[in-house]
Amino acid sequence: MLARVRGCTIFGVEGKMVDVEVYLSSQLPSFDIVGLPDAAVREARDRVRAAVKNSSFHFPPQRIIVNLAPADLKKEGPQLDLALALGILFASKQLEVPTDWVYLGELALDGTLRPVRGVLPMVMAAREAGCRNLLLPLANAAEAALVKGVRIVGAESLEQAVAILSGRQIPPPIPAYKQPNSIKQDDFQVVKGQENAKRALEVAAAGGHNVLMTGPPGSGKTMLARCVPSILPPMSEEESLETTKIYSAAGLLPENSGLITKRPFRSPHHTLTPTALCGGGHNPRPGEVSLAHNGVLFLDEMPEFRRETLEVLRQPLEEGTVTVTRLQSSYTYPSRFMLLASMNPCPCGMLFDPEVECVCTQRQIHNYRHKISGPLLDRIDIFVEVARLRYDEVAGTGRGESSAEIAARVAAARARQLKRFAKHSLTCNAQMSGQQIQSYCKPDAAGRDLLRNAFTRLRLTARAYDRILKVARTIADLEAEKNILPKHLAEAISYRQALHY
Ligand SMILES: [Zn+2]
Repeated sequence: MLARVRGCTIFGVEGKMVDVEVYLSSQLPSFDIVGLPDAAVREARDRVRAAVKNSSFHFPPQRIIVNLAPADLKKEGPQLDLALALGILFASKQLEVPTDWVYLGELALDGTLRPVRGVLPMVMAAREAGCRNLLLPLANAAEAALVKGVRIVGAESLEQAVAILSGRQIPPPIPAYKQPNSIKQDDFQVVKGQENAKRALEVAAAGGHNVLMTGPPGSGKTMLARCVPSILPPMSEEESLETTKIYSAAGLLPENSGLITKRPFRSPHHTLTPTALCGGGHNPRPGEVSLAHNGVLFLDEMPEFRRETLEVLRQPLEEGTVTVTRLQSSYTYPSRFMLLASMNPCPCGMLFDPEVECVCTQRQIHNYRHKISGPLLDRIDIFVEVARLRYDEVAGTGRGESSAEIAARVAAARARQLKRFAKHSLTCNAQMSGQQIQSYCKPDAAGRDLLRNAFTRLRLTARAYDRILKVARTIADLEAEKNILPKHLAEAISYRQALHY
């Protein structure tokens, strides 16, 4: 007897349909799974056998062969358990299983259905494959219901799933999803002084530009960075869906959570490994660069990170994706983020302080700075110096501009960019290609003079030159100015100078 049911697996951050074929033959009892299963899928044999028996069904004392198709796709994780169990019940004629449904879920030994990761991309794949009905763990139902056009049925156990499928029970209601609690954000209003740095961060947030802040300890670099989430532009629906898919695939979406609608802000510790940064590992998961997709990756005290960790940033910074190769499979994760980094000017931090003397040797300073390689520096658009505050700035009582006011300007500038790039697949100025820079960033004669000057004086690379044009485009967008004027270029050039003090 042959039965065929449909399941789904996760590959990178995409869902892939899997056909589960169960064949029973009257030979000595055995249970084999073929078709590139990983360890978790092979272990499904034991879980499924126990779950079927403990749910008062009968486990057929026959030879069971399960084939997972397509055969060349590596199947991962425990989400095929439910499809396997239902396929066996179907093949042994204990149940009539509708075959136009998709089944997802991990089984506990007692038959309880456990939630799995990657539900959002898997349900999207099922919809794309034309499936209209989906049965999965109730704890995953709210997430699955984010995908429109598919009927979602949740169950808490194998027994309940069978009762629903055979029409003996009506499906339980799908839990309403909770919007994640809005995290209390730091507000620029409480940051004293540092007008220059605040302005640079406003420009960066508006155009999605990479920033490196340099300054002595205690100058408030970390505090400035913590305020950045409060001014980031709103997410488009597509961005929101992309980011939620990544968190779903990583298993980091809280139960019953809705779409992620706030741009992520990731701030990994400097001890993280290249794998944790870029993704991969034994059970491949997205890394920090992908969890920051459509948001910000903040590297506090960047030279403290291992050099090989920093070097793996180059591909995602350049291409907006990261490729992880593991055994026979290679996974590509989206990773378009704004890099926000901070560092001291030297190991002791006092190099440019007018009052405190730096105690570092030339060699120490050289080694410290060279932990960040030239190619990495070349991918940064804005360099900003964050100086220690003067007495009158600390003692002053004046309050700065609030994050809400800055956020409004940032959102307006981003809306202009979205309109400009409506025909292209980009969302902000930082993502422009060389060709797009040529068509959208045309300085006038005076502006070209300024650029020529800066090019020689600052010994710019071609890449740095392009970055100046992109940043100038954003500064013009912040002023709702159609043309890039010399003052916009002058400001953009000033953001490269901090590198050459
Ligand atoms: Zn020093």
